[in-house]
Amino acid sequence: MNLGMPNLWMFFIFMPLLGMCVGSFINVVIWRLPFSGQKVSYRGKTGRLSLSWPPSHCPHCNKTVRWHENIPVISWLILRGRCSGCNQRISLRYPLVELGTGIIFLALFIAYYLTGWYGNQFRNMAHGGPTLVLDLVYVSVLLAASGIDADWFIIPLRLPWLVIMAAVVSCAAGVQPMLPSLPAHSAFARAALGGTAGLIAAVIFLRLRLIPRSFSAPPDGKLAENPPPAESLSAPQSADQFVAPPQLRRRPIVPAVIIILAAQAPLWLFASHKIAVLLLLVSGILCFLLGVLPRPADTAESNDLAEEILDESAAPNARHEIFKELLFVLPILILGATAVFIPFPLPASPVFCRLYGTLLGLLAGGGIVWIFRIGGTLVLGRVAMGLGDVHLMAAVGAVLGAPLAIIAFFIAPFAALIWVIILKIMHRPNVLPFGPWLSVAGILALLIGPPVQGWYANQLFPPVHQRPIKTGRVMWPGDNPAADRPHKSP
Ligand SMILES: [Zn+2]
Repeated sequence: MNLGMPNLWMFFIFMPLLGMCVGSFINVVIWRLPFSGQKVSYRGKTGRLSLSWPPSHCPHCNKTVRWHENIPVISWLILRGRCSGCNQRISLRYPLVELGTGIIFLALFIAYYLTGWYGNQFRNMAHGGPTLVLDLVYVSVLLAASGIDADWFIIPLRLPWLVIMAAVVSCAAGVQPMLPSLPAHSAFARAALGGTAGLIAAVIFLRLRLIPRSFSAPPDGKLAENPPPAESLSAPQSADQFVAPPQLRRRPIVPAVIIILAAQAPLWLFASHKIAVLLLLVSGILCFLLGVLPRPADTAESNDLAEEILDESAAPNARHEIFKELLFVLPILILGATAVFIPFPLPASPVFCRLYGTLLGLLAGGGIVWIFRIGGTLVLGRVAMGLGDVHLMAAVGAVLGAPLAIIAFFIAPFAALIWVIILKIMHRPNVLPFGPWLSVAGILALLIGPPVQGWYANQLFPPVHQRPIKTGRVMWPGDNPAADRPHKSP
């Protein structure tokens, strides 16, 4: 690792600051993106709601938030969580989302560059930099998507597609440590291209209406780009409702966050640094979730939304509708499978190898959710998972690659289970959206995915030839010998 000491300390300060500023923006995205484009009135003006208009202001007294009141976390602490104009409380969500994002950014930087989590794969900024940048974009979008899903049970599809675009663009950086890549001669690379061709064909068929749209009067809120039309949303809006996330009860949350933060110091002293950095990442995720997931138990509105979601997923024609999605998946399967058995030469430059890995991850991540969505709906007779979840996992796969996306998919229910237990203890009835858990699993998989994959691969393919199966996003058994240089475990 070639980071000199001054650089190192700069990054120690820079990463959490960057994370907190991004978290501040995530707050805006969570609260405004689902409604962007709606007509709102603010101080007598009528305009369309966007991420930048109207400016941040207090929903109670209309006071505009000045720049020095908008410094992540710190301003909230200095103002003691109250508006400087009218002394009304500012939601605890703001500092928690900012703090959580800051901790997650710091944890990933430490894990990649300082603890040797990936051996010597991250030697210097030039070497691992593009990987880190893509991962930070990925994490930020997953956090925003899970916040919106927690509030409205939808995932705006432009969020996962932003990640997919970023992943495809990052292919230009060639083979990067830990980013998916496939050798041009492998059947997987051909499957990725064939499947992608099938996907493009299916989308064209859908646009030409050769394939029917499922749930065309969307019973499933996630199908629509815009949120379910709650009655209150159809009337002309005051801008105020878009600037005030729900108030959270401070008593259980603030002590919990303090305990989580205080527990970090002994970990770094007494546990191994790898365990400590993993738990740092977990603590950042927890801070974020504490800001985003709790909803006031007594608001009729959130209960109505939850019931609405349950009603919708129990659509009587769910089985019939889901068959239409099988028609969409069919060209992907046919072309993907055909390409496996017909060897054709592919460009073998690093840029293309990355592209194959990204495309296969996209298909595998989206595909595994879709399999469970179609299978679950056919068996249960009710919609099992949203199409938003399909897109979200496609984005996870595009960044992590196929093996880790599948691992992340199976981590998600365990993460959700923990939250269900907490809700049971707190006697809070709740309906869980699945998006946040896919996101949490997608973030955790950045660190725990490769070891799990390595362990699993070693079970399947015991290293008889003394050729260890590397634990990386890149690796398939026997692939990519260039990256197979031995490295010292710290
Ligand atoms: Zn105010």
